[in-house]
Amino acid sequence: MARIIDGKAVAERLRDEVRAGAEVFAADHGRPPGLATILVGDDPASDVYVSGKQRACGAVGIEGFDHRLPATATQSEVADLIARLNDDPAVDGILLQLPVPAGLDADALTASIDPDKDVDGLTPVSAGRLALGQPGLRPCTPSGIILLLDAHDVPIEGAHAVVVGRSNLVGKPVSALLLARNATVTTCHSRTRDLAATCATADILVVAAGKAKMIGPAHVKPGAAVIDVGIHRTDDGLMGDVDFEAVEPLAGVLTPVPGGVGPMTITCLLRNTLAAARAREGVEALSGAAG
Ligand code: NDP
Repeated sequence: MARIIDGKAVAERLRDEVRAGAEVFAADHGRPPGLATILVGDDPASDVYVSGKQRACGAVGIEGFDHRLPATATQSEVADLIARLNDDPAVDGILLQLPVPAGLDADALTASIDPDKDVDGLTPVSAGRLALGQPGLRPCTPSGIILLLDAHDVPIEGAHAVVVGRSNLVGKPVSALLLARNATVTTCHSRTRDLAATCATADILVVAAGKAKMIGPAHVKPGAAVIDVGIHRTDDGLMGDVDFEAVEPLAGVLTPVPGGVGPMTITCLLRNTLAAARAREGVEALSGAAG
């Protein structure tokens, strides 16, 4: 039976480290690290996410700046706010909650965030830095996946890692992070010919396809590390892209949903905010390391 990865426990340990780091930072610089969130419109799910991020900041000693704009906000109003936050010395990280209302150009707004404050790691500059192996802020969910593998002593170097999904948010950056850690990486997508056969060669299988229970025993090599990024709200509760019960007897380690990758995402946002603050104050440059 697989060892079940306890994402909550790993996240809690890492948040303790951020709390300690934020305390030292505040003592040394006379201010806490600061994270500005921007929510445009009143989408209830986005409201829950942003409020959760603000609460998480408060719990680790990061100052949250919670900016809310009406759904009627124009492109230039949002862009002006981002420009002000780029220039604000109390703000180390800026997060534009996506999606933004129709009519706004999310890509242009994201691209206008100062890459050194891009704690979501989603600007073209951050993506370029990751692709080139340069120091920078890495996307949160992919970083969390690497940290979970490390926390459970899953060897990455030399392993065959198969990633199902190629989104800019998860699939592509996690593939890049695994490659940076010297895995041999195969990235699968909806046009991949024999998905099961490809997945079944993986030592590390990361699934971020957004299809409930699409990965079963035929996709899993015995002993593989299986990381399930998917989240689906169903009548039977939350579930992932992996058929947990069917895969559990085969996998070596396995993330549950909920309680696996999920808790790591906000944790990595907090880590990125502290790292950005330290880099901006000249304490320590941004790392080139994966995760
Ligand atoms: P996207 O919809 O942006 O991307 C899905 C990817 O999966 C695409 O590249 C798509 O291929 C591929 N795909 C879809 N169906 C198949 C299939 N049948 N076989 C092979 N590949 C397939 O999703 P995201 O990357 O944004 O998110 C993926 C999942 O992760 C979602 O369930 C989301 O809710 C969850 N998520 C969880 C987070 C967390 O914190 N735990 C954070 C972010 C996301 P193609 O490119 O060809 O269309």
